[in-house]
Amino acid sequence: MDERFEVLRRNLALVEQRIQQACQRAGRRREEVTLVAITKYVPADTARILLDLGVRDLGENRPQELWAKAQAVPEARWHLVGHLQRNKIARTLPVVHRIHSVDSLRLLDALESQASQRGVDVLLEFNLSGEATKTGFAPEAWDEVIARLGSLRKVRVHGLMTMAGLNAGPDEVRNTFAQLRQMRDRYREMVGDSTAWPELSMGMSGDFEIAIEEGATLVRIGSALFEGLQT
Ligand SMILES: *Cc1c(COP(=O)(O)O)cnc(C)c1O
Repeated sequence: MDERFEVLRRNLALVEQRIQQACQRAGRRREEVTLVAITKYVPADTARILLDLGVRDLGENRPQELWAKAQAVPEARWHLVGHLQRNKIARTLPVVHRIHSVDSLRLLDALESQASQRGVDVLLEFNLSGEATKTGFAPEAWDEVIARLGSLRKVRVHGLMTMAGLNAGPDEVRNTFAQLRQMRDRYREMVGDSTAWPELSMGMSGDFEIAIEEGATLVRIGSALFEGLQT
């Protein structure tokens, strides 16, 4: 038996248990939260083991890695969670299930013009921690972003994504995630649709429980799944 399988099985069981406990604390159903396994630390054949363990949603933060792994593991739903340069849109569209990291109006426009009739499913990334190293719209860009949504035909916006600050304590992290949820709620109020923007992509290995408590529907987990692997 492949030793990696056992390590991943054990890590996944622990992550799954923590997800369930966070759902319980928040009074949410487990089905409301999707685990997206971020495979950037491991080769494609290790990512494939996760499929065998029942994880269908895999993610990468670099487009080139996404292309390579999506080719090697085409059965997965591949999520792009990192910055997408416009010259990489064409190769990304055919293989990506969802882009979490739409972080500029230029990218939004380029996606709209390059997407096929099939369209593309995206989330809008906001930088709420104010860290200059992080991508994402500034909260101040809100009005401009909202104004652009009306021109979209092929780009389908399903919600919002954010990352907590690198050295943020738990209170600050919770505050960031709550802020993203409040932005979503503000949008719902604005369009008069309490089901609009269903997805909130927030929470990584170090903070996914807080994210679930604050309403995350997609948690992006890497290191907690792969720790202890030899590769
Ligand atoms: C790497 C990465 C993750 C996963 O981070 P871990 O802390 O390893 O769980 C989530 N989101 C993005 C955008 C990433 O780049």
